[in-house]
Formats: sequence, C-alpha cells, structure tokens
Amino acid sequence: MSGVALVTGAARGIGREIALKLARDGFAVAVNYASSEAKAEKVVAQIETAGGRAVALQADVSDPDAVISLFSTVTDELGPVHVLVNNAGITDDGLVLRMSADQWDSVLNTNLRSVFLCTKAALRSMVRARSGRIINISSVSGISGNPGQGNYSAAKAGIIGFTKSVAKEVGSRGITVNAVAPGFIKTDMTETLGAAVIDGVEQQIALGRMGLPKEVASMVGYLASSDASYITGQVIVVDGGLAL
Ligand code: NAD
Repeated sequence: MSGVALVTGAARGIGREIALKLARDGFAVAVNYASSEAKAEKVVAQIETAGGRAVALQADVSDPDAVISLFSTVTDELGPVHVLVNNAGITDDGLVLRMSADQWDSVLNTNLRSVFLCTKAALRSMVRARSGRIINISSVSGISGNPGQGNYSAAKAGIIGFTKSVAKEVGSRGITVNAVAPGFIKTDMTETLGAAVIDGVEQQIALGRMGLPKEVASMVGYLASSDASYITGQVIVVDGGLAL
C-alpha cells in the first residue's frame, strides 16, 4: 500500500509500533506526539533508516486549533491523509465516588474528543478522494467496564459508538472506520500496575500473558490494508482471550 498515514500519540508504546508497521507496509507516516519530541524523532529515524518516509509532528490532539494545524502540516509535508489511526490516550484512574470533574474531563478530552476532532479533519480529504481508512484504538475496558476506570471506560465505549456512526455516514464514500480494542498490553501505560496486579490479570487471560504492542499493530496494519476493504464499523478485540 502507499499513501499517507497519521498516527496520533506515536512516540512510544502501541502508537510507535503502529507507525513502524505502517511504514514497513509502504505508507509515509506522520508520527504525532504531545511532548516527547526526542522519542518521536527516534521513531522517524528508525523508519528512515529502513528506507521509509516519516515526519514527527507535535500537537495536542484534544485541541481543535492544534488538530487543524496538524492536518495542514501533514498535507504540506507528506500529502493528504489516507489512513488515520486515533491512538493517543491517557488514564487517570479512580473510583467514581472520588473522581473529580477535571479527572473526567481530561480523560474524555484526550481519549474521545481527540477522535472526533481528528476524524473530522481527516474526512475532508478522504471524502474528496472517495477512499480512506480510520482506525480508532478503543479498549476492552470500553466493552466490559473496569472498576476504577469510569472515565476511561466511558471514553473507550464512546469511541465504539462513534466508530459505528461514522462508518455508516461515510461508507458510501469508500471510507472504512473500525475500532481495535486491546486488552492488557505491555507498555508504559500498564507498567505502573505492579507485579501482583499483573499476575492476577494474566490468570484471567486465556493465552496466559499480556499482549505486545506489535500484536495490536499487526491488526491495525491489516485494517489499513486492501485486504480489509469490506470491513467497516467493527470492533476487533485483541486481548488474548481476556474478555470472553
Ligand atoms: P502510552 O501511554 O505508552 O502511549 C500513549 C501515547 O499517547 C503517549 O505517547 C502520549 O504522549 C500520547 N498522548 C497522550 N495525550 C496526548 C495528546 N493530547 N495529544 C497527542 N498525544 C497524546 O500508552 P499505550 O499503552 O501505548 O496506549 C496507546 C493506546 O492504546 C491508548 O489509546 C490506550 O488507551 C490504548 N490501550 C492500551 C492498552 C494497554 O494495555 N496498554 C489497552 C487498551 C487500550
């Protein structure tokens, strides 16, 4: 495949692996980051060393003006976006009884508002091109819920409803919109959980282990490929059999 892919929050973790995978698959990749410029530049260098094309672009994807200028810079530097991967996300856990409104807003803004803003910006050129792929990173927390993650689960469930609605809005324009819902994946986000929690979680996973970022990236790569041309509005769970 060729064309331009934009991956949000791609300086590390799952987003980084997605950027590397899409570059290997032939896309020119815009590596978006919020603040980790050095890490994003490292991802770009890795892609370029392997013979690919990439740029690192700073933007807080929950900010409407920043998203508009992000898309205009990607278009100027690489061309119009064919594949958008809404990956950027944060957690700020707490039981609902103790959760502040700020804790709710920041998680909803980063994880859900960003998906709306980036999708809206990407659709302009995709509708014109009558083709495009949007892949939103949800979570099994948005399907099954998770105590202590009321804000995060709401955002990730919101992504699923949004994905299905947009899939129905733009399917006639040749654009597919899907969500990937990872389970427990080894990244900085889950590193803080501690050995006891991880042991407990692994016992609930059919495959008996946490997943790797590249195991999520391979599903995203598939959904971005021409092999997935007849799949839209779906939520693909990549969790080793956690949410069975
Ligand atoms: P991570 O914390 O390593 O990566 C998230 C990235 O998003 C970071 O680079 C961060 O800087 C970036 N980001 C945060 N806010 C941003 C903003 N406003 N603008 C731009 N970038 C921003 O976490 P990860 O585990 O790689 O998570 C990637 C995605 O996968 C997230 O959406 C997360 O919710 C989802 N997910 C992760 C797991 C897991 O177990 N790790 C499970 C299910 C879903």
